[in-house]
Amino acid sequence: MAKVIIIGAGGVGTVVAHKAAQNKDVFSEIMLASRTKSKCDAIADAIGTKYGNKKIQTAQVNADNVEELVGLFNDFRPEIVINVALPYQDLTIMDACLIAKVNYLDTANYEPLDEAKFEYKWQWAYQDKFREAGLTAILGCGFDPGVTSVFTAYSNKHHFSEMQYLDIVDCNAGDHGKAFATNFNPEINIREVTQKGKYWENGQWVWTEPHEIHKPLNYPNIGPKESYVIYHEELESLVKNFPTLKRARFWMTFGQEYLTHLRVIQNIGMARIDPILYNGVEIVPIQFLKAVLPNPGELGENYTGETSIGCRIKGLDKSGKEITYYIYNNCSHEAAYKETGTQGVSYTTGVPAMIGAMMFLQGFWKKPGVFNVEEFDPDPFMEQLNKQGLPWHEIINGDLEL
Ligand code: NDP
Repeated sequence: MAKVIIIGAGGVGTVVAHKAAQNKDVFSEIMLASRTKSKCDAIADAIGTKYGNKKIQTAQVNADNVEELVGLFNDFRPEIVINVALPYQDLTIMDACLIAKVNYLDTANYEPLDEAKFEYKWQWAYQDKFREAGLTAILGCGFDPGVTSVFTAYSNKHHFSEMQYLDIVDCNAGDHGKAFATNFNPEINIREVTQKGKYWENGQWVWTEPHEIHKPLNYPNIGPKESYVIYHEELESLVKNFPTLKRARFWMTFGQEYLTHLRVIQNIGMARIDPILYNGVEIVPIQFLKAVLPNPGELGENYTGETSIGCRIKGLDKSGKEITYYIYNNCSHEAAYKETGTQGVSYTTGVPAMIGAMMFLQGFWKKPGVFNVEEFDPDPFMEQLNKQGLPWHEIINGDLEL
């Protein structure tokens, strides 16, 4: 029985609020706080007493402001904060957690607003502070990073004596009926996928041009989809925590229409993250673009199809023989919408964030310091995935295609 604050009332925050409300034996009181309180109120009203617990409380907070956050935390006294605002707020929320003595969880690593360069160094630098304060910070607990990292830890624990080749494969075979939309915050999404590609090989990072390496991969229940090597944040911690990996890559599917729109957006300067002067007012093109694109949290209604995300791993099994292992989850956009009113990408991120907080509150993932999710015991988390709407499947010694 514990109090929790969710920060961020977007698609992911909506799912976390639903799933926490469904698990009232673990989350006795829930507060949803965000920049725009009316969005929190709308989510709280939609959930209402649907799951038979106390109504979700709401609050307005500017998560860029440490003092405001500390005030909120001191008033509500949560055990843990689930940060599903934007990566720019990670450090201010971590600072506030240290002052108010609250534990922390997020789904995306810190990225400075003025530089599209996400990496863990800023948050790993909080290790001593959290350890000395006796607080836990759980980093990257969405689907990818998050479930993909737990899948890797589970594979290592139960199937491999030496993991050698890891390919994380992320397919969204859904159709939302829009010419162009992103499945999570457009600004963060476009900053991520327009970066140069990068993967780990033989102890070093190999850089590629954006979307340079691609091939069709077959996804369960979906079929072949063109998949592109991009850099994704969990690679940074996975190669550190599993040093036997000779190669680690991340593949994501993109449709031709999506890539064409992305190219045009870049070519006409709308992906710029530096401020420009427009009619005497400073605007950041990518932030303006976000304002005119469809809201990812509202794509769910007509979204059909499913996502399929997993890890394809090659190496030596517990007896030293060669083995291939594929572990994955498929998630239906329609089912996610029916349950929470949001699409599958928000769902696959919000469910693990709730489970991560549950792991902390139940004592499975509780140790002082700053940790990536693969550093905890994967087993209780894997068990909850099956119970909370993200069941997983495994294929042993199948063709990995990679
Ligand atoms: P949205 O843009 O839909 O929601 C973000 C929410 O944060 C909004 O409610 C926004 O407020 C709020 N917010 C932004 N800035 C502040 C601030 N300064 N103070 C308080 N609240 C603020 O994003 P999503 O829900 O799609 O994504 C949420 C997070 O999840 C992102 O960090 C994203 O990177 C991460 N993510 C992780 C994935 C994973 O698998 N690990 C996959 C997908 C997303 P307002 O409503 O006023 O704009």
